[in-house]
Amino acid sequence: MEEEIRLCPNCRRPVTGRADKRFCSDACRTMYNNRIYRRRYTELTRIDRILKKNHSIIERIYENGKRQTTFTELFGMGFNFNYLTSLRKNPDTAGSFIAGCYDYTYVIADDGSILIDRKKAIPL
Ligand SMILES: [Zn+2]
Repeated sequence: MEEEIRLCPNCRRPVTGRADKRFCSDACRTMYNNRIYRRRYTELTRIDRILKKNHSIIERIYENGKRQTTFTELFGMGFNFNYLTSLRKNPDTAGSFIAGCYDYTYVIADDGSILIDRKKAIPL
């Protein structure tokens, strides 16, 4: 039976030895896993940063006493609508959803207006 040539996922050199051996060396295994971890961590950090920026934008509006804004205004302030922390059906309006950004919620109406609310804080 012809043996299949396996390549190390880190350095692309052939791997010899046991059939379940994936990497050519422990150093390559460590390097590869560190790279995967770092890439994943970087991506999560990037998303965390977007969500926290969204939160500070919505908080700035809310703390100025405003409960209504527009899609255009939020977008103009750098709000990224692609990321949210929760989503549920709006019981008040069929077909619409209540999006969440941590302790804030917002509902986008068809005309682009947005209602902001804040979830009640859990008592300590
Ligand atoms: Zn290797």
